[in-house]
This record gives sequence, structure tokens and C-alpha cells, in this order.
Amino acid sequence: MTTVAPGRIEMITGPMFSGKSEELIRRLKRARIARQRVACYKPNIDLRYHRTAIASHSSQTHEASTVMTVEDLRATLFPMLDEVEVVGIDEVQFFSDDIIPLAVELVHLGKRVVMAGLDTTFAAEPFGPVPNLMAIADEVTKLSAVCMVCGAPAIHTQRLGQSQELVVVGAAGMYEARCRLHFQPWTDESGSEQLELLSTRETAET
Ligand SMILES: [Zn+2]
Repeated sequence: MTTVAPGRIEMITGPMFSGKSEELIRRLKRARIARQRVACYKPNIDLRYHRTAIASHSSQTHEASTVMTVEDLRATLFPMLDEVEVVGIDEVQFFSDDIIPLAVELVHLGKRVVMAGLDTTFAAEPFGPVPNLMAIADEVTKLSAVCMVCGAPAIHTQRLGQSQELVVVGAAGMYEARCRLHFQPWTDESGSEQLELLSTRETAET
């Protein structure tokens, strides 16, 4: 009986504008340079969240398959799993908690699993499966952004404006990185309701 050497779980987290996607892309590119085979996934967030709000803010890109759910990710990945050494997952905060046992399963199958996602919501609450993924990871990289008020390192994503303004303000101008001092939690709605609100708008616009 052969035993597979375990892989590794890497979490890249922090607020918006902290370079999480860029760091994920950098690691995946290095893996490719090392001739490792990479598969990259991201959730289908267009219906839940404005696409420009989650896009990589640099020109860096990496091919990623869009999947609706963790089950979709599994169904896409597992038929070619023998061909894959590194699994990248971006915007992992939008997946359900089912992503946690999947990451554990993959690491025991010898895969390197590199995930990036927001650690907190606009209300500064822990975001989806990310806290648990941080707990089980081999390595956690917590990036900071730059506070748009004072220039200090920023750990928060500030949602700007009131809900009424969401109808007229584009998502690109709706968020800023903020330090603890200048962050004001968005408390009008729960985190999931905020996303629902955006979802409604996004659907209406497109
Ligand atoms: Zn500040």
C-alpha cells in the first residue's frame, strides 16, 4: 500500500485592495514555472456581487474556471485530479463551508491548495468559511491594504454610502480600505443581506 505525501493548504487573506488575488496569481505562476500542473477556480459571483468589486486590481490575470458551488468545483476537478498538483481558489469566502472538508480531502491526496479570500465582511464580521480555512491551513498570509483616509495599513473593507445610493453609485467606488481608526462598520444589513442587495441590483442592471 502506498501512502501519498500530504500536500499543503495556504490561505491568503485580508481586506479588499490588499493584493490577495495578485498573491494567488503569483504563487500559481511560480508553480507553473516549476512545471507543476495548476487548476484554478473561482465562484460564480456575478449574481451575488459586483464583478468589478472582486476583480484583480492589477493587470495580473490567471485562467480560472467559474463554478457555482463546492459540488461543482469537485465535479470539475476530480475527473482530472491525477493531472493536477496545485489547486488555486479565489474569492473563497463566497463558497459554503463544504469547501473546508474538500480542502482537507485534497491535501490528504497530496495536493497543494492555495486559496484567497476576504477575512471579514463590511460589518467586520468573519466571512463565510475563511476563518475555518485559516485555522486548518499550513500557512496563513494576512495582507493589509492602505487606508484611504490616513495612509496607514488597513485591515478593513469600508463600504461607502447608504443603501439608497447603491442604485446610482457603481461598485467600483463603493469600497475602500480603511484602518481600525477610520473604519465604520456597515450595519444596515447582515453580511449576507448586503450581498443579496447587490445581487438584486446586478441582476437588474444586466
Ligand atoms: Zn486610517
